[in-house]
Amino acid sequence: MSAVGEHQVTSEIYSDIPVGSPEPGSEGYVTTKFYFRRPTTDPVAEVGKTEAALEYDSDGDPILERQQSEDVIQIKHSSSTSLRMVGLQVWRGALLLADWALHYGPSLLRGATVLELGTGTGLTSIVAAMHAREVVSTDVDLGGILDLIKTNIDLNKRLVKARSTVLGLDFFSKEWSKEILNKLKEVSIVLAADVIYDVDLTEAFVQTVVKIMNVKPKKTLYFALEKRYLSTSIFKMSTADLSLFTYPNDTPFVELDCTSAFNALTDKEKLYAHYLSQASWYGGLIVYVQTSPEAPLIFSLLHKLITAEGVEDLKQTAKESGEASEDDIKALLVYIAGVFANSGNYKGFGDSKIVPNLPKERLEKIILSSAAYKADPTVIQALWSACADSIYSLEPLQQHLGFSDKGITTYFTPNCTQKDSELVGNFMKKYNLEGYNNRLFKYENGSNTTYEIRMASVLEKNESEPFLMSDTIYEGCTFRVTRGDYSGLLDLVCQNLEKAKEYASNDLEKNMLEQYIKSFRTGSLDAHKSGSGIWIKNKGPVVETYIGFIETYRDPAGMRGEFEGFVAMVNKEMSAKFGALVANAEPLLKELPWPSTFEKDQFLKPDYTSLDVLTFSGSGIPAGINIPNYDEIRQSEGFKNVSLGNVIPTSFKGFRHQFLSDEDVALMDKYAVTAFEVCVGLHELLGHGSGKLFRKEGGKYNFDIESVVNPLTNEKITSWYDEGDTYDSKFTSLGSAYEECRAECVGLYLSLNENVLKIFGAEGEDAENVLYINWLNMFWAGGAKALEMYSPASKTWLQAHSQARYVILRVCLEAGEDFVKITETEPGKNLLLTVDRSKIKTVGKKAIGDFLLKLQVYKSTGDEKSAQDMFNKYSEVSDDGTYPWATWRSIILAHKQPRKIMVQHNTKLNGSTVDLLKYAATPEGFVQSWSERFPSSNVDSLLQSLWRKDAENFYAEPPAQLAAIC
Ligand SMILES: [Zn+2]
Repeated sequence: MSAVGEHQVTSEIYSDIPVGSPEPGSEGYVTTKFYFRRPTTDPVAEVGKTEAALEYDSDGDPILERQQSEDVIQIKHSSSTSLRMVGLQVWRGALLLADWALHYGPSLLRGATVLELGTGTGLTSIVAAMHAREVVSTDVDLGGILDLIKTNIDLNKRLVKARSTVLGLDFFSKEWSKEILNKLKEVSIVLAADVIYDVDLTEAFVQTVVKIMNVKPKKTLYFALEKRYLSTSIFKMSTADLSLFTYPNDTPFVELDCTSAFNALTDKEKLYAHYLSQASWYGGLIVYVQTSPEAPLIFSLLHKLITAEGVEDLKQTAKESGEASEDDIKALLVYIAGVFANSGNYKGFGDSKIVPNLPKERLEKIILSSAAYKADPTVIQALWSACADSIYSLEPLQQHLGFSDKGITTYFTPNCTQKDSELVGNFMKKYNLEGYNNRLFKYENGSNTTYEIRMASVLEKNESEPFLMSDTIYEGCTFRVTRGDYSGLLDLVCQNLEKAKEYASNDLEKNMLEQYIKSFRTGSLDAHKSGSGIWIKNKGPVVETYIGFIETYRDPAGMRGEFEGFVAMVNKEMSAKFGALVANAEPLLKELPWPSTFEKDQFLKPDYTSLDVLTFSGSGIPAGINIPNYDEIRQSEGFKNVSLGNVIPTSFKGFRHQFLSDEDVALMDKYAVTAFEVCVGLHELLGHGSGKLFRKEGGKYNFDIESVVNPLTNEKITSWYDEGDTYDSKFTSLGSAYEECRAECVGLYLSLNENVLKIFGAEGEDAENVLYINWLNMFWAGGAKALEMYSPASKTWLQAHSQARYVILRVCLEAGEDFVKITETEPGKNLLLTVDRSKIKTVGKKAIGDFLLKLQVYKSTGDEKSAQDMFNKYSEVSDDGTYPWATWRSIILAHKQPRKIMVQHNTKLNGSTVDLLKYAATPEGFVQSWSERFPSSNVDSLLQSLWRKDAENFYAEPPAQLAAIC
């Protein structure tokens, strides 16, 4: 396989150790000398000593006495490799484990047989071999790694005392060599250093370790791992990596459309939705303050740039500056969109930094020729100077979010580490405080440390609020709980929630908003919890909303919530279509390929409402959410499962469907949304709603055991659900993928019915196309998408729907007759999926019908054994035969598309009603939507003053431009 997107990576340790250039004829290898001194004392014998007897250096490491004479290990290695071949380099974990072996070897390794996994260059094995009886060094037999280990052992012959064996061992391989299996019977110590750097590999590694540890004699594993946020975060940048931190100019933009749902609202409901949206948008600006020190200034700068002149004028002035190309201007618009869509200069999904895809000098030129600059040169110049460097910086510690020794965060001041976070976490636990709505500021004054836990609130003074405790000493530090974070922005949130309250449709909504307002005004988290409790009681509202400090993904400590606000409406038009489907349920259920004896006595409509998003502020838009996150509320009051119906078809819209012919892509673009509605409606209502479970309860059967015949065997029913059995208890881990597959097959099968297509507004040729796209999309999802959710290491599916669709594709491929075809058009690079549409009603119908019948019969009769056998066969991802799926998975992953940016509507007051403002699904449309979302510059002043308030805590030296900006 040619690996697509294999960029070069370099171990960070080479910044500490000088590494020369490869010599000619060295095949790209360099040799590095690692100097060391052996310890004079045996640390195991030292264990009895009290900790105080040890002295520590400035990094907190114990100072050990060492022998004076220096020794050296020579290691031949690569100085940079592709990610696949990182074993050819020396990593921090190997240094650490080698250091450990140097100190503990004399006592712990003496006389032992040691096995090293993922040996790499051999550094750790060599040190172990200074003490052990035998060292078995293993690694994957790839790219000459095994030979490199042998060479390095030879290079250090002088030091190596143990017998050395080098063997191939691949974590992903099931079959291990006889030699390895024999050696395992002698091994008592297992070493592994920095051998895992992605999810698949981690799973495979753990399985390997489990297998090894189960072989007698008893073994001890010593494992060194550098803690990383993302596999890439420890790698130094090379120019190719820039693409990881930019939005490409061809980033797809899509409209998050909710027009029909919004238009179906009454004027009062529209006003309610409008003020809730305003509250959400203002609150969403808090996220900038929660992201990076510079983010509030970046917002302010970009926002001034796009409000001072229209987007077309901005493009024109940029062009006239004579410095910026069309691509540069586009890159600027895409950067603005990227920052605004993520509420800051770090991605909401993945936490990596966003930098502009145009050179700094050219961005500066555009800014200094803009109308914004002409209107207020001092402020624009000051904003630019204060954040230009941080906009572009890709220093390792700036690449991702994290504690200050790993990345960037503003949830903690930069003088805080994981240790501070743990101390504060313990304090908060002791005093029953939660993190959701606060940030942590640490102040050091001589030997005194003060931690300030700052709550988000409008009120800035701490007067007589019972939840605001007085200064408390804990573990020798002072803890102070204060409030007033984001004050100005939260005031705007509260003002708008007050107005929304006037248009609430019931008392629950009013009381809920009152509690939220109380929470945002005072900083009381309890008030937000009671608001959330009321929210759960407000079942099926026409306008749904949730607002506050909700998701904790981006706090490195995982407890502080990011502000988020959303407003969504029940899609009445869609609900009407779903209603018509339910009204037609009876005749439709009769068409399903099982006898009526296998159908429920009465059709029960499953609980399902789909909401269309009007507003979603924060760092990203999910397709569904399950909230609130407060555990005690979830247990006492429950939670809501909110499905954001317009987010999913929106994701189709901006999608370039790969692996399809041009004609199919065009049809897909035109009909995917309708096909998706048909699919969701049938899946949710008739799919999950259909079919009967045969039960025996209190000695009675809920079916006629004498007459009901199993259509697969033509014999009487021989199995059922006994007392206490449920579908989940019988089908266990297979259950959800199997049931999703059944629902999807019902969807495919009933989409053949013309009346169904008519309910969704498709007739004649349109109906034929919707039908075709419904089936094509299923196969496409099963073939071109699903494998992203498969783990080759554990050979398991990570997602029920993905597995279900893959199984359906396999079933139809098996049907043959050239109905569905997949070909590798460019070896290792591209695939083509085709469906013969003339065969849907014949070959397709029969294949899905037969399969669906089996799915239902096994489910009805509780025959999980037959279900397992059948389903597992189709779920298998093998590399043999006509369809080498395991290989194709790499092709599919290589075609993964850039994440799209959604363009949201605005609402605007128009007398006593509200208008919905829509924008083009382009960078220009996106930028326009944001200039109209906040037409005035008061938000800039607010963000600038919040930045100023934070600056002294987040900059070693606050930028000199401070005075001009604030
Ligand atoms: Zn489902």
